[in-house]
Amino acid sequence: MDKIIMKTPLVEMDGDEMTRILWQMIKDELLLPYIELNTEYYDLGLKSRNDTDDRITVDSANATKKYGVAVKCATITPNAARMSEYDLKKMWKSPNGTIRSILNGTVFRTPIIVKGIEPCVKNWKEPITIARHAYGDVYSNSEMLIEKSGKAELVFTDKDGNEQRELIHEFDDEGGIIQGIHNVTPSIESFARSCFNYALDQKKDLWFGAKDTISKKYDHHFKDIFSEIFEKEYKEKFEEAGIEYFYSLIDDIVARIMKSNGGMIWACKNYDGDVMSDMISSAFGSLAMMTSVLVSPDGVYEYEAAHGTVQRHYYKHLKGEETSTNSVATIFAWTGALRKRGELDDIPELVRFASKLERSVIETIESGRMTKDLANITNNDEIITLSSLDFIKAVRKTLDTYI
Ligand code: NAP
Ligand code: MG
Repeated sequence: MDKIIMKTPLVEMDGDEMTRILWQMIKDELLLPYIELNTEYYDLGLKSRNDTDDRITVDSANATKKYGVAVKCATITPNAARMSEYDLKKMWKSPNGTIRSILNGTVFRTPIIVKGIEPCVKNWKEPITIARHAYGDVYSNSEMLIEKSGKAELVFTDKDGNEQRELIHEFDDEGGIIQGIHNVTPSIESFARSCFNYALDQKKDLWFGAKDTISKKYDHHFKDIFSEIFEKEYKEKFEEAGIEYFYSLIDDIVARIMKSNGGMIWACKNYDGDVMSDMISSAFGSLAMMTSVLVSPDGVYEYEAAHGTVQRHYYKHLKGEETSTNSVATIFAWTGALRKRGELDDIPELVRFASKLERSVIETIESGRMTKDLANITNNDEIITLSSLDFIKAVRKTLDTYI
């Protein structure tokens, strides 16, 4: 068989620990035999980030801007323990945070559904994708603990020195708490555009909920921005694609999601997204089956797995012990990126390859061959638990029946 030829390079961001081991296995077994892989390689492993004073992370994000598509392996976000483990010059920032702020994007997380691992919510037949607005609100707040009586006010002084005041509360000696939060219009606009673009890309309905009846300025601003951008820029495109934008109060959205069959993209304000993404991933079964894609408002895509570097398994691997680490989300990061590259460069064989590989992964698991994390939660009783490498080899065997 001739290998598939790529045109534009795909930005490849390598990473750390067990996922770095899986990364190489996936390339060797599932990609290089079938594709003339054309990647621009950036090593975001912690050692390389430390050696380059984290320049490599910034370079990889800029390359993603230039070429439009990246695939990323999970990386360590350093903490105190990592400082000594890797003898770091500095506690480097989270690479995902750095990349996200350069691309100004929104993260969409989607579970991978297989038969035998059923969501806790019986009527969820299709995956639910969560989009979290990752700026502001309670995540960059200022707070006060109040311990005697007094008046709390919200004061805004504009650049000309004019003051705008709003009473928050008159406290008595019993005291209480106050919190100041903010958001900025351009960030909400980017979030809205990323969500509308991704809904079109995926041909799925977009749902958004906020509490505009109670929060008549703050949450209402989110609602208005989404609605204005939709009317002006997306309404016709949504009609053509046969998809819908649906806004409702956040509590109504939650109630409807529980009763739905899934299949929608759910745009969430920062805190709602933090909470709901954990609920969705645990309800669908496993963090190891969750994909993640960062989409910028101008249509740049970075694909990755939602889980981390699986440190505990890596230490076992270093001791020479066999691991059974799930590579599914990392494989899907590659297929997502390759499919997108194929669509942008008009290479139908590459798009078809991505779909065949995804189907092979799902079929392999549904035939009972899976890693230990899935073996622990499946309701399929005839299963074979495989090691990290044997699972990838089993997927390759299935894939070869399609090629
Ligand atoms: P983690 O790597 O996601 O792993 C937490 C636990 O979840 C594992 O110990 C394992 O449970 C299970 N697990 C996760 N992915 C799995 C997989 N593919 N196959 C099988 N089991 C899996 O989270 P963490 O241990 O909190 O973080 C480790 C490192 O990852 C940290 O340095 C953190 O900074 C980094 N991290 C990176 C990203 C990213 O790059 N996007 C995201 C999150 C965390 P058992 O041990 O019980 O088997
Ligand atoms: Mg959370």
